[in-house]
Amino acid sequence: MSSDLPSPPGDGPDLTDADYDYAADDVAEPGLVADLEDLVDGDVRFDTYSKQLYATDASAYRRTPIGVVLPRHTDDVAAVMSYCAAEGIPVLPRGGGTSLAGQTVNEAVVLDFTRYMDGIHEVDPDAREATVDAGAVVEAVNEAAAPHGLKFGPDPAWRDKSAVGGAIGNNSTGSHSLKYGKTDAYVEEVEVVLADGSVETFGEVAVETMRAEADPDGELLERIYAELVRIVDEEADAVTERYPDMKRNVSGYNLDVLVDEARGEWADQGIGAGGTGEPGTVNLARLLCGSEGTLGIVTEATVSLVEVPETKAVALLTYDSLNEAMDDVAPILEHDPAAVEVMDDTLLDLARQTTEFGDVVGLLPDGTDSVLLVEFYAEDDDEGREKVADLVADRCPGTDTVVEPTADRVDTDEPIRARAAMEAHDADERATFWKMRKSGLPILLGRTSDAKHISFIEDCAVPPEHLSEYVEGFQELLEEVGTFASFYAHAGPGVLHVRPLVDTKSLEGMEQLERIAEGATDLVVEYGGSVSGEHGDGRARTQWNRKLYGDDLWNVFRDLKAAFDPDWLLNPGNVCGDHSLTEHLRFDPEYAFDAGFDPELHWDNENGFRGMAELCHGCGGCRGGQSTTGGVMCPTFRAADEEIQSTRGRANLLRGAMSGELPADPFSEEFADEVLDLCIGCKGCKRNCPSGVDMAKLKAEVAHERHEREGASLRDRLFANINLVSRVGSALAPLSNWATKLPGSGVVAEKALGIAAERDLPAFRRTTLRDWYEARGGSAVSEADADRIAVLVPDTYTNYNHPEAGKAAVRVLEAAGVRVELADVEDTGRPAHSMGFLDTARERTAAAVDDLAPRVDEGRDVVVVEPSEAVMLQSDLLDFHDTAAAAAVAANSYGVLEYVDAFRLDEAMDLAGDGSLTYHGHCHQKATKKDHHAVGVLRRAGYAVDPLDSTCCGMAGSFGYEAEHYSMSTAIASILYDQVDASPGETVVAPGASCRSQLGDREGAGEEPPHPVEKLAAALA
Ligand SMILES: Cc1cc2nc3c(=O)[nH]c(=O)nc-3n(C[C@H](O)[C@H](O)[C@H](O)COP(=O)(O)OP(=O)(O)OC[C@H]3O[C@@H](n4cnc5c(N)ncnc54)[C@H](O)[C@@H]3O)c2cc1C
Ligand code: SF4
Ligand code: SF4
Repeated sequence: MSSDLPSPPGDGPDLTDADYDYAADDVAEPGLVADLEDLVDGDVRFDTYSKQLYATDASAYRRTPIGVVLPRHTDDVAAVMSYCAAEGIPVLPRGGGTSLAGQTVNEAVVLDFTRYMDGIHEVDPDAREATVDAGAVVEAVNEAAAPHGLKFGPDPAWRDKSAVGGAIGNNSTGSHSLKYGKTDAYVEEVEVVLADGSVETFGEVAVETMRAEADPDGELLERIYAELVRIVDEEADAVTERYPDMKRNVSGYNLDVLVDEARGEWADQGIGAGGTGEPGTVNLARLLCGSEGTLGIVTEATVSLVEVPETKAVALLTYDSLNEAMDDVAPILEHDPAAVEVMDDTLLDLARQTTEFGDVVGLLPDGTDSVLLVEFYAEDDDEGREKVADLVADRCPGTDTVVEPTADRVDTDEPIRARAAMEAHDADERATFWKMRKSGLPILLGRTSDAKHISFIEDCAVPPEHLSEYVEGFQELLEEVGTFASFYAHAGPGVLHVRPLVDTKSLEGMEQLERIAEGATDLVVEYGGSVSGEHGDGRARTQWNRKLYGDDLWNVFRDLKAAFDPDWLLNPGNVCGDHSLTEHLRFDPEYAFDAGFDPELHWDNENGFRGMAELCHGCGGCRGGQSTTGGVMCPTFRAADEEIQSTRGRANLLRGAMSGELPADPFSEEFADEVLDLCIGCKGCKRNCPSGVDMAKLKAEVAHERHEREGASLRDRLFANINLVSRVGSALAPLSNWATKLPGSGVVAEKALGIAAERDLPAFRRTTLRDWYEARGGSAVSEADADRIAVLVPDTYTNYNHPEAGKAAVRVLEAAGVRVELADVEDTGRPAHSMGFLDTARERTAAAVDDLAPRVDEGRDVVVVEPSEAVMLQSDLLDFHDTAAAAAVAANSYGVLEYVDAFRLDEAMDLAGDGSLTYHGHCHQKATKKDHHAVGVLRRAGYAVDPLDSTCCGMAGSFGYEAEHYSMSTAIASILYDQVDASPGETVVAPGASCRSQLGDREGAGEEPPHPVEKLAAALA
């Protein structure tokens, strides 16, 4: 053993975090910032907000960085590294920050590659390679490769939010690792900045070349070569002996790959494994895989690509116990599946509770405890069906299959354990099974209690033949410490995700944490497994590497680290440093939270407002792009590409300000401007965040308290009282409209009120919907003739600005035999709510309940044309009023096409829609899962409809009219405009008034698009 470093902890003198002598106080930040600003073209951010934003990732840890640099090119990275090397300052490269073990939080200068260094330089279909920047999103690489029928092999679940540099750092992989292996099998070459700031290209190199250039006393690269040659010469047998004999191991450094390559054994490792296969040649790019930013900083990578499989087929096998399912994994693997995923009873129960998957889980036989989802890749559909039939014939004989099993099928001769089998072949059915497999986790992660399902031993791996004993031992361990966990995910390669419920804010929880981690490590060591089969070492698992690999290999790791990074400046503490499981947790017994006010709204979750403010677990799901991730969340991140504009950024800053981590007053003007102001309240996070973080509701509370303390601007009050303003505007129309069109009126509006000069305010209509309705003598359907009676709310926008949509609603409903009465109430409280005037909103919602509840009591339904107002009555109302009357109104309120769909009213209409429509739904209706109704109705009416998977339009009520928000609003709109341009629909339709206004500003749009109910009315024969 050649280590000159101090002995490992416990055997000798204590090690520091690493062997650097940096401490935050030693760095004169102003000088540091000025120096870095001089050195780099990118952004240098050392303010407290930026540091708080990068203090957490998707793990349970928190560590404030020294500062953040957003490099623009390799020279920036090299400049930062050389400067920091000279000053002894640690550096941490970061991608999407979606790591689960804490490897992207450190006291270091963080380099965020995702802002500027995210380009895809080349996809070469002939060489089947892509050359990309380290910050390129993995799924964006897939998008670029898709036209050639290619993709990046590994499929980490969060590939649409994480970067290639991060995949290299963690050696990432996913559900189909049985076929594709890990990232290391695909990284051919990297450009890397080493610890002294030098830039090198790492790829294939002969061991003899390294030997010739090696010099233990020479330059950095010569010292690295010397250590690598020594490991190949002296440690190869120890590596082979001590590394777990399984592909899913990402703990420690990739020394097994190094020695296998040197022996010429690597190319046999599985699909995708590149390399020459020649003994004596290694690929140093692969050595960086799984090194967690501790050996070098990747700036660019060339990765190999694989063919997208022709077709897939899925079988779902059900079991009476988790152990039986686990015992069945090894024989199933003999059928050569691409994936074998497990779901245990806890997750099945949670999936059963969801409206989306309750029905599917209901199809499983009574008593089903666990299921295995088995996926096959196939050349064509027939082969896929045969593979499923062969599997079922072997593992669940007697079950009918779509085709007969083949004559030469695999017969494992193992006891039969599965109780039933289902199969899925078309894309939608397969997607349903996969979504079901993933559906329970968000519920686990949605706990707002102090105890949370945290990740710290969530990806231990054991050889599949030991899964059953491992699970049994793990369950006993959990019982012993008095908690529980669900077991799910990648059973095929032996990686089970386990997130025990632990409250790290309590001392008991901290003790549980340690006991579980230690016990789980003992179990994986006993069964020849790994403490990390997927997510890496980070802060949670580094300390267990010594137990896993033993002192000798632990010291080899440290020698390797010292050779690459003599001063231990690259992400120090990880892999073989002194990070400890229990230090620097985000929530620990010292953590305290004080919101500083009494919330106005009902919070029916555990821990109320605090529970919601602490809910974001940092997964980075809100950083996904429109084309890669889809959905609504988070439009402001999509427009700005800035962490602070993501839901995660806002949640981290809000929690930080209220827990004292961030020295900021959450009710100050600065905090409002920097953090919450640009949240457009679209509720995308409430819908798409796996934990259901409701930033719009959090923002409403904080804005209200701010109004209470600081007062509110005239503009905010005007928008909150838009109903009153509209009433006056309509009474004075057309004069009021001319006034806004006068030359210079926009400038005046901007100066006096802060309304964007570029915007045309919606025109007021002299004849309102109510005027029209009264003039026609009320409903054309008498009470006696009516099949149903609807109370139509003439909401502000429909009544005063867009009565034609309201008239269309009346026509449509009457055509279905519905009597339409108008509500007295016009203002549902939505405008006041979205401007943060919660007491005003409370009064208005109370008035709405007073008006509508008695009518609902009489059997009438409430119908609203404007989606945000409909959602106000359907759900936000209950945040104000916990009464039976409010609940009755909420349960009986509908958006207009939701109403048509819910009662199949269109079946009573004679409809002949013609043409094609592009449908942009309203984000509030998407958040409440009400958006599909309109599409169904329009299709049945005869239209071809292309529903856009769009985010918010960016107008968001009054947001887009506000001068300081105009640029954000139009940046968000441009995402929608691109989708509309790409859609085949002839006519755009959108139920939201502000969406229509925004879409009307699209170049070439001509005029504002119609409400979908207008197209339905137009289809009436
Ligand atoms: C919900 C969820 C599901 C997940 N599913 C999977 C899964 O299926 N499979 C899986 O493997 N992982 C999974 N992960 C973990 C994580 O998403 C992946 O490991 C991902 O590839 C990390 O990418 P990132 O861009 O977020 O990297 P980061 O988290 O930013 O960084 C990861 C590591 O790489 C280092 N690094 C980043 N950039 C560079 C660079 N340029 N040079 C050198 N080192 C660098 C960092 O220092 C860090 O140590 C999941 C995470 C979440 C939250
Ligand atoms: S807000 Fe939700 S999606 Fe975003 S990081 Fe937090 S938990 Fe993940
Ligand atoms: S409400 Fe919309 S804009 Fe605000 S954080 Fe959530 S997704 Fe982003």
